[in-house]
Amino acid sequence: MINILKSILLRYSLVNHNRFLSSSMEFLFEKCWKCQREIDRFECTTHCPCEKNVLLPVKREIDYFRLFHLPKSFELDVNLLTKAFRTKMKLLHPDLFANKSSEDQQYSQDQSSYLNEAYSTLHSPLERALYLLKLENIIFEETTTTLDPDFLMKIMEMNEELADDKTIKHFPTNLAIEIRQEMDSLLKQLSNTLHKMDLPKAKELVGKLNYYTNLDDKIKSLELKHGIL
Ligand SMILES: [Zn+2]
Repeated sequence: MINILKSILLRYSLVNHNRFLSSSMEFLFEKCWKCQREIDRFECTTHCPCEKNVLLPVKREIDYFRLFHLPKSFELDVNLLTKAFRTKMKLLHPDLFANKSSEDQQYSQDQSSYLNEAYSTLHSPLERALYLLKLENIIFEETTTTLDPDFLMKIMEMNEELADDKTIKHFPTNLAIEIRQEMDSLLKQLSNTLHKMDLPKAKELVGKLNYYTNLDDKIKSLELKHGIL
């Protein structure tokens, strides 16, 4: 059924090359630069299925989730993401196109950097949440997000504790545990609010997670200093 509908839409798209939207499906038709075949870029995100399996130019309308054919959700299987990233990277790495045409070389460079950008964004929970908010046209700015004073006080105290000379001699184990537990709890809450599309709440949680990510970075560098990692 979907295939029939697609072929009708494909014919429609020959007249109208714009993005075609329907309530349940979305397509982005384009002609392959090499074989001239009409393809849906939301399906063929990096390659044309023509016999030469050619690389296509980057299309920013293809969001990072679509690029890897993963559901647009905060709950993401990071193993699947990594697997999809490696599979795609193997097919479009610039080394493979060193002796190909200038178009091939250019597209492989562009696609590799788009793929890297997408992978690192989706891999980090904070970046992934920010990206999901961005897809909903909500741009997170630290300065416009007001957080309660108690929270900010707590963060300040934790930062002071980490800046203390004591941490040079003794790794702050309890604080590290507390910070990571808070991060886990914030990530769970964020997952729920994004699932419910409670965007103002999600924005607040992203703000909090931002502070905890900074604290966690400090913990990580202390772990390195103390030879824990
Ligand atoms: Zn083609």
